[in-house]
Amino acid sequence: MKEKIFNETIEYAEQMDQQDELSYFRDEFYLKKGTIYLDGNSLGLVSKRAEKSLLELFQSWKNFAIDGWMEGRCAWFHLSEQLGVKCAPLIGARPEEVIMTGSTTSNLHQLVSSFYHPIGNKTKILADELTFPSDLYALQSQISLKGYNPDYHLVLVESKDGRTIEEADIIAAMTDDIALIVLPSVLYRSGQALNIKLLTDEAHKRNIMIGFDLCHSIGAIPHEMTKWDVDFAVWCNYKYLNAGPGSVGGLFVNKKHFSCTPGLAGWFSSDKSKQFDLDNTLTVADGIGKFQMGTPHILSLAPLIGSLELFEEAGIARLHKKSLKLTKYFMDLVDTVLRDYHFTIGNPIEDNRRGGHILLEHEEATRICKALKVNGIVPDFRVPNGIRFAPVPLYNTFTEVWRAIQILKKIMEHEEYKLFTNTREVIA
Ligand SMILES: *Cc1c(COP(=O)(O)O)cnc(C)c1O
Repeated sequence: MKEKIFNETIEYAEQMDQQDELSYFRDEFYLKKGTIYLDGNSLGLVSKRAEKSLLELFQSWKNFAIDGWMEGRCAWFHLSEQLGVKCAPLIGARPEEVIMTGSTTSNLHQLVSSFYHPIGNKTKILADELTFPSDLYALQSQISLKGYNPDYHLVLVESKDGRTIEEADIIAAMTDDIALIVLPSVLYRSGQALNIKLLTDEAHKRNIMIGFDLCHSIGAIPHEMTKWDVDFAVWCNYKYLNAGPGSVGGLFVNKKHFSCTPGLAGWFSSDKSKQFDLDNTLTVADGIGKFQMGTPHILSLAPLIGSLELFEEAGIARLHKKSLKLTKYFMDLVDTVLRDYHFTIGNPIEDNRRGGHILLEHEEATRICKALKVNGIVPDFRVPNGIRFAPVPLYNTFTEVWRAIQILKKIMEHEEYKLFTNTREVIA
């Protein structure tokens, strides 16, 4: 079927949905009637598969008790490694380079403590001022733990426009005193996708290690961690990966660093065959397993089993293609239907610089966001003036994007947002 040229009608949206080869995945999810959920970049929706795998692991606790570590279809002892294998295609890593463990923040602590070895005048960490604060707090505390002053040893690349970071500015900041670089793959607020390959090449030319936080790209866009030779990465699984609130996160370490000593060891860092010798000296695992600390959070891992099946079936390339169409469609509607209402598109508009969400900026963003929620649209608000909308390719439709825009137009036209107060909620 030939694709029609964009127009503002609902018929166009319906036709895009009819042509969508991934549309049947929507039935895999629990969708709330009367709401259009566009916040899957903060907390992904629950799928029937995730529910099933969660219940299955709950059942394995009932059935096997202590023997569940080694018995059942998803025995708990090797589950973190096994799910790493399943997740590897999403980031273009070798299967043995990925493990599901910890959280974004704890994994960042683990990997920075493993790979940040200030020596001589190479003592600083390079990050960017728009990065998610938790990552900055982790870097600051790692620097303090090494006895340095984070005010001086954490170098932040500045943004020129408050939304994006120029790759050229990051490269210019890769000076001789930088020991390690930590950057997001996609910026959480503007959705800017950084050029990971370019930045990794430039860092390595200068003998600097580089790691990425993939929270806002994993499950939304493809990656080639191995081909690009990235040193390490961390992420959470509750955003585009739909593994549930507080689900266990993930980490990637390039195989060439497997000889390193984990910065934060525990008994799960052990070679599995020796772990139950309970020796007072740790025999560190050879591979990715060494970056674990304690007992895996099995019930918070469980939904990921089912969720990853959906990604395997849909394929990240097809999901990305649809995501780009959805976000492009969103922007086209903003430019036409909402042109009179002073919104600024805050995300980069180029396909190769755009993550999975749209950022609309407006001086009344707080109140508009509240009005949207009352009207059954779920985006999220980001200080000071941003509304993020994530049309997620697994469960959102073009028709939903069309509806969300119509409701936004209605709110602006009738100034419905003026019914709300201009204060942010505790959780925005
Ligand atoms: C969501 C997110 C986090 C959250 O970290 P947790 O340890 O899972 O709470 C961290 N960094 C970035 C960039 C994020 O988007």
